[in-house]
Amino acid sequence: MSVATTPVLIGGSIAIDHIKTPTAEGKNLLGGSASFAGFAASYFNAPIHLVGIIGKDFPQEHLDLFESRGIATAGLERSEGDTFSWTGSYHENMNTRDTLAVAVNVLEDWTPKVPAAAASAPIVVLANMHPVNQLQMIDQLTAEKPFIAADTMDLWITIANDDLHKVLRRIDLLVINESEAREFCETSNLIVAGQRLMAKGPAYVVIKLGEFGAILFAKHPEDTPHTQFSLPGADYDLFRCAAFPLTEVADPTGAGDSFLGALAGHLASTGKSEFSFDDIRGAIAYGSVVASFTCEAFSANRLAHLTRQEIDCRLDLLKSFTHWAT
Ligand code: AMP
Repeated sequence: MSVATTPVLIGGSIAIDHIKTPTAEGKNLLGGSASFAGFAASYFNAPIHLVGIIGKDFPQEHLDLFESRGIATAGLERSEGDTFSWTGSYHENMNTRDTLAVAVNVLEDWTPKVPAAAASAPIVVLANMHPVNQLQMIDQLTAEKPFIAADTMDLWITIANDDLHKVLRRIDLLVINESEAREFCETSNLIVAGQRLMAKGPAYVVIKLGEFGAILFAKHPEDTPHTQFSLPGADYDLFRCAAFPLTEVADPTGAGDSFLGALAGHLASTGKSEFSFDDIRGAIAYGSVVASFTCEAFSANRLAHLTRQEIDCRLDLLKSFTHWAT
């Protein structure tokens, strides 16, 4: 196994979630895009620096859980207000959900402050948060050429479209849900959406398909021969990754954030500063596998208590399930 220690900086929301599924309900759960991404990234032998904001109501036990995974919380601002809170309800299919309530609270006037030790991280995750906050984080980075991966959501496509476009021009990789990709790119065709998203900036685009996995699009470097991953005549490469098959989904909240965190964690574990298409493919596979654990319990109740062996075992199974001899 690799012993690389490339640090990963993760910024995003830290939340108290209230979740309803067709069969169960959970209140006052640890949530937030950065929380899930942080736990997911913590299995790859890399120092993880979290940047976010919490309120005076944030339970110490959640901070202890970050600490138990070795996640540095010096970048977590403590405010006198209340922690950001999100209430969601899942539909029968567990793939779609409604946001029932959002209490922005301490996120309202937040400007992320990246500690010096974290600002130099070569790998950066901008988990789901306001695009202005994502830009504020980018402005504080000090590494020469950090690899920046970002997530977004339908809300920002609607209310902060210009700022989101600015983010896209400054990142290397975007992850986005399929419904958001269709909305953002005004097309129902996901391959066209992938092309249009790359045209907005990032060299890599990952469209997440929920229980059906993800599609990776990668700009094909100029003047390099096409590979078996290129469509005829296309200037990009494609990779289609399955999701790990689950028979029961307890709560998919945070699956997307876990996907992104594991993706970054795997890239850190390569010890490289520049990544090949194969590196990113591997990262997507780890993202799929780690996200599957998140879905098996509410909050981070499964995600925060894994072993690397469990993750690698699922990765091997995913490989077997999706490989065939020609
Ligand atoms: P996911 O299921 O991967 O989309 O992530 C869900 C997490 O995102 C939940 O834990 C929420 O607390 C968090 N979240 C929901 N809405 C927002 C928002 N507007 N800004 C930041 N984080 C959010």
